[in-house]
Amino acid sequence: MQEPIHILKEYWGYEAFRPQQEDIIRTVLSGADCLALLPTGGGKSICFQVPGLSLGGVTLVVSPLIALMKDQVAQLKQRGIAAAALHSGLPFAAIDRLLDNCVFGHTRFLYVSPERLQTEIVQERLKKMPLSLIAVDEAHCVSQWGYDFRPAYLQIAEVRQLVPKVPLIALTATATPEVAQDILVQLQMEEGTVFQSSFARPNLNYVVRKAEDKLKSIQTILQNVPGSSVIYTRSRKKTKELAYWLSQRRISATFYHAGLDAMERQKRQDAWIQGKIRVIVSTNAFGMGIDKPDVRSVIHADVPDNLEAYFQEAGRAGRDGNKAYAVLLHQASDRVRLEKQYEESYPSLTTIRRVYQALGSYCQIARGVRPDRSFDFDLATFCQNFQLALLPAMHALKVLEQAGWIIITDAVFLPATFKILVNREQLYDYQLRNKQFDRLLKTLLRSYQGADKNAVPLREAQIARFLEIERKEVVKGLQQFHRDQVIDYRPPKNKPQLIFAKERVSAEDLQINQERYQFRKQRHRQRLDALLEYLDSTVCRTQFMAAYFGEKGLEPCGKCDICRSNKKAASRDQQREQWQQFLLEQIQEKGPQSWESLLQFARSQAQKNLLHEALSYLLQEGFLREDAQGQYRLN
Ligand code: ADP
Repeated sequence: MQEPIHILKEYWGYEAFRPQQEDIIRTVLSGADCLALLPTGGGKSICFQVPGLSLGGVTLVVSPLIALMKDQVAQLKQRGIAAAALHSGLPFAAIDRLLDNCVFGHTRFLYVSPERLQTEIVQERLKKMPLSLIAVDEAHCVSQWGYDFRPAYLQIAEVRQLVPKVPLIALTATATPEVAQDILVQLQMEEGTVFQSSFARPNLNYVVRKAEDKLKSIQTILQNVPGSSVIYTRSRKKTKELAYWLSQRRISATFYHAGLDAMERQKRQDAWIQGKIRVIVSTNAFGMGIDKPDVRSVIHADVPDNLEAYFQEAGRAGRDGNKAYAVLLHQASDRVRLEKQYEESYPSLTTIRRVYQALGSYCQIARGVRPDRSFDFDLATFCQNFQLALLPAMHALKVLEQAGWIIITDAVFLPATFKILVNREQLYDYQLRNKQFDRLLKTLLRSYQGADKNAVPLREAQIARFLEIERKEVVKGLQQFHRDQVIDYRPPKNKPQLIFAKERVSAEDLQINQERYQFRKQRHRQRLDALLEYLDSTVCRTQFMAAYFGEKGLEPCGKCDICRSNKKAASRDQQREQWQQFLLEQIQEKGPQSWESLLQFARSQAQKNLLHEALSYLLQEGFLREDAQGQYRLN
C-alpha cells in the first residue's frame, strides 16, 4: 500500500494534507466507515481519492450531479488516473464496456449517479469488481430532514449489503446535527467516525445588508473590494440584466445560467476563472466543482433558499485564505417572495396528478409500462404543450421526484448513437443502390462494432475528419440512412433527462405519502425561519451559521458586520467617556463654561456629537448643572 502523503505529492503535487484530511484518510484506510463534514473548498475529494488510490482496486463514488461527476472524472484523468462516469442517459453498450473496465480493474474511480446504482446491470457487476471503497458525495441528499433529499440515495444502503466488507466514506459540506445523524442511520454506518471541521472561515467577512437600492450597493461593494467576484441572482433574466448594467459602468462582467448551451457556459466560466472577466453574474447553477481560489467577493443580490445553500455559495469566496467578503443583500420583497415560494412548493394532489398525467402523454407511455430509456425534458415546452403554469408544474415535478415516481437529471451531453436496423443482405443491397453514400456507410460499419445488436455512441466529427468531408455532410448521410430505416440515428443532445422510476399508473392511482409530505413541509418551514432569522440576527454571523450546523463555542469572528458594529459601538462608548473626563477637567480648572466655548474643542461633526452626548450624560447624572447665565458648572 502506497503512503497517502506520497500519493498526494505524486498525483496532486501538494506538499501536505490539510487539517482533518489526514485523520479522515487514516480512518478510511483502517477499514472503518466515516462521515466527513467539511466546508466547501475544504478538500473533500482528496479524502476519498487518496485512500482509494492507496487501497488499490476500484473506488465507487456516488454523486448526484452529472456535471460534477464529469468534472471530477476529467480532473482525475488529467492526473493520469483512470476514471469513468456512469449516469442516467448513457446507452447500454457504453455502460457495458465501462463496467467491464471496472471488473478487470482498469478503472480506479467509478462515478455513478444514485439512480444508476439501482439498476441490475450495475449491481451485478459491482459484485464482480475489486471494490475497495465506496464514497458518497453530497451525502446530505440521503436525508429527508435535509434540503436536497434524493430518494435514490436511500438505495445506497442496499448496495452495501451486496459488498458488506467494503468501507464507506460519506461527505458533505452542509449538514445540521439532525441531518448528520440521519446520514449515519440511512447509510448503515452508525458505528462510523464523524469528522467535523470548524465552520469558521477566518478570512471571510460576512455582511448582511438591507438595501433598498441593490444595484447601487453592488456597485459600491465592487468599487471597494477589488478582484474577482460572483454575484448570485435568482432568475436567468436578472443575470443578463445585471451583467449588462455592470458592463455599462465599466465593470467587466458576464452572465451564466443553465439555459446557455454548454459551450457558451464553458467559455464564460473559463474567461472568468482566468481573470479575463472580473464578475460573473449567475443563478445557483454556477459554482459546483469550480475551483477558483482568488474570489474576493460573493454577493447575493437575492436571498437564497436556505442557509445550507448560502453557506456553500458564500464559501466560494477566499479559498486562497486571503481576505474576502460574502455580502447578502435583502429587502422586504425578498421575504414576500420566499414566503410565496414556500406556499407554492406544496401543490395540491390534484395539481400533482395533473402534471403526472401530462408527463405520461408527453413521453407517450402506456399505463403499466416502465420505459427503460430516458426522455429529453424541456420544462418550458412541456408546460406550453399541456397548458400548465410554469412554477406550480415545477413544484409538482419536484414532489413527484421526491416521492420516487420520476427522476429528472441535470442537462447532460449525450453523444450521438446509432443502431443498425437491417440484416446483412439488406444492408449490402442498400449499399449497392446508394453509391453516393458508399464510403460513409463502410466507414460507419468498420469503425463501430456491435451496432447490429445495440445502439453505440458515434462521433460525427471523427468520421468527418477521417473521410475529409464536412461534419454536416456526415450528419446529412446519417439522417438519410435513418429516414430509409437502415439505421436508428439519434443526434447528440444536451438536455435534462426524464426517467420514470416506476411503471406508469393512472392519475387517480397516483399516491403521495401524506405523512412524509407534511414532514418535509414542516422542515422547509424551519429552514426558512432560520434563514429569515439570520437576516435580522444581532449575533456574530459566523457564530450563527456555525450554531445552525451544530458547532458550538466559537468566539465571535470579529469581522462580520455584526462584530464590526459592536466594535464600533464599544469604541464610541470609550470615546464618550474620554470626553466626559475632559469636560469635567476643563470646568474644574477654568470655572463655568458656555456651550460655545466647549464646542471649540470639537474638530469634526463626529466629535461635536460625542461632546454633546458627553455633556448630556453629565447633566443627566447630576455631575454638572446649568446656571442662570446658561453656563455649565460643577454640581
Ligand atoms: P470541496 O469538494 O471540499 O469543495 P475540493 O475537493 O474541490 O473541495 O478541493 C478544493 C481545492 O483545494 C482543490 O483545488 C483541491 O485540489 C485543493 N486541495 C485539497 N486538498 C489540498 C491540500 N492538502 N493541499 C493543497 N490543496 C488542496
